[in-house]
Amino acid sequence: MSRFWSDIVNDLTPYVPGEQPALTHPVKLNTNENPYPPSPRVLDAIRRELGEDGASLRKYPDPTARALCETVAKHHGLRVEQVFAGNGSDEVLAHAFAALLKRREPIRFPDITYSFYPVYAKLYGVAHETVPLNADFAVDVDDYRSPNGGILLPNPNAPTGRALPLSEIEVLLKQNPDVPVIVDEAYVDFGAESAVSVVGEYPNLLVVQTTSKARSLAGMRVGFAFGDAALIEGLTRVKDSFNSYPLDRLAQVAAVASYEDRAWFEESCAKVVASRDKLTAQLEKLGFEVVPSAANFVFAKHPAHDAAPLAAALRKQEIFVRHFRLPRIDQHLRISIGTPDECDALIRALADIAR
Ligand SMILES: *Cc1c(COP(=O)(O)O)cnc(C)c1O
Repeated sequence: MSRFWSDIVNDLTPYVPGEQPALTHPVKLNTNENPYPPSPRVLDAIRRELGEDGASLRKYPDPTARALCETVAKHHGLRVEQVFAGNGSDEVLAHAFAALLKRREPIRFPDITYSFYPVYAKLYGVAHETVPLNADFAVDVDDYRSPNGGILLPNPNAPTGRALPLSEIEVLLKQNPDVPVIVDEAYVDFGAESAVSVVGEYPNLLVVQTTSKARSLAGMRVGFAFGDAALIEGLTRVKDSFNSYPLDRLAQVAAVASYEDRAWFEESCAKVVASRDKLTAQLEKLGFEVVPSAANFVFAKHPAHDAAPLAAALRKQEIFVRHFRLPRIDQHLRISIGTPDECDALIRALADIAR
């Protein structure tokens, strides 16, 4: 608290990201980072951009990230006018709150979802209502039917990992044609159907994606929105009223190189998916109930062990998982998929603790 703070700061409840422990070799399964490095082409591109003496860093980057937007547009079969790039998808989402979701009617998102949404709603003064997930943590799109100012939904959802089929997203779009529908696809590459393929059909659809999870570039901060050119223009107007240069030079070339190496991307996603399915089976064998996941994490609870002490016991062994002290999910752990060795270490520790 400070008497110099503005009123809005007094009122904020900031997002708390997962811990980044200062340990040499933690088993870090708490922030859904990718356990594998990005494509070697990403490193080459960064070295090329830096050159011998780093002279390019003297100059501002391209404020529109044009080359990157063109690469990604081509990757998704879109026009460049349908692509927006931002400093991580968190920033893209923030701009969407300001550009699209600040409306007269309250917006809607699930009661259990990415915990940054209510934070942005507060920061931007956006009224919202939460819609309860059903008992098995699934979204029922009919629950979003009554009048609202817009809809925001991760697919797959976080922290549950459950995905909706594209046909259900399309029902949502058809039932709410007069408000923006934003689908946050941070984890889509691990097994869900993307709505990018129908961007041209729904002028109210905005799809948000990131390079942080499936492309191993969380440290670079590159996210996107895909949608009708008018929606993208709205985001650009907000961006240019906030920060003209959100993506630095190295982030722009790194992300281009990532999209140019499709084989690396597909292989690393396939490895994560294989580990997820194996980890799910192993957790179930230990008595955990695991929500079916289409993401790079699993959401699990043990009927005989409270989640908080489980997480604390793992932490003592330098194994970090995420536990949310929130209604309905305070008995669950969210466990990111690590390398096979990290998954094995987790299972060994849990078998030990549960015994
Ligand atoms: C990780 C995550 C993001 C943010 O990703 P960045 O691009 O790293 O900012 C957005 N939405 C959801 C649901 C996420 O889990």
